[in-house]
Amino acid sequence: MPTTSTKPKRKRAPRTFGKEKAAELYAELAKERPNPRTELEFVNPYTLVVAVALSAQATDVGVNKATKGLFKVADTPEKMLALGLKGVEEHIKTIGLWRNKAKNVIALSQMILDEFGGEVPQTRDELVKLPGVGRKTANVVLNEAFGQPTIAVDTHIFRVSNRTGLAPGKDPDQVEASLERTTPDEYKLGAHHWLILHGRYTCVARKPKCWLCSIDHLCKFKDKTPDPATVSSLGPKKPRSRAKTKK
Ligand code: SF4
Repeated sequence: MPTTSTKPKRKRAPRTFGKEKAAELYAELAKERPNPRTELEFVNPYTLVVAVALSAQATDVGVNKATKGLFKVADTPEKMLALGLKGVEEHIKTIGLWRNKAKNVIALSQMILDEFGGEVPQTRDELVKLPGVGRKTANVVLNEAFGQPTIAVDTHIFRVSNRTGLAPGKDPDQVEASLERTTPDEYKLGAHHWLILHGRYTCVARKPKCWLCSIDHLCKFKDKTPDPATVSSLGPKKPRSRAKTKK
């Protein structure tokens, strides 16, 4: 008779942080930045929609440079339409994909006027109908302009969530769902900003600054970067000599 194995099954480690550990992580990030805000400049919900739509594959600094002049002359959908496509293009030429983005800015302004009475809609389903506005942009707008506890997953949040083990996922949607589950309610409003800023300034893409990181004791990343000061104090590694010394 075949024997059945009586070996007890090993328990798998939980894939994400528990809420308690996640709360610890957010508490550390909140200590560093008690009032986190987006680094995109805007003056009202409409200009935030435009700024976030322009920020795809561009830096916030680059977008701010372009919108500084643009929002002076056009901070409402009506004024943007009066400025026209060529006028918008002139202002945003320094940003990547500017031709397409200019078309979207005009089209979304028209839609806000035609379908939403000139006001930026306050639901995700309505926001994503606007040309050039995807789920990520909608989440940023809901969070920043309307104070809703949404978490928009960009490249920084995706990286930090996976590296730390806070909310692993293969794509932004998976990470967003993981973050929704793991993030305690009291941290949901700030989570997006804390994670984005941590990824932008500390847990950077190429060489994370682990030696400066306030959450290194919670982070599951295996290849943490050592403190360069410690490494350099040991001096450069000398190649081992293969030749044996004669006694
Ligand atoms: S310890 Fe390193 S990898 Fe982990 S979150 Fe901090 S900077 Fe990122």
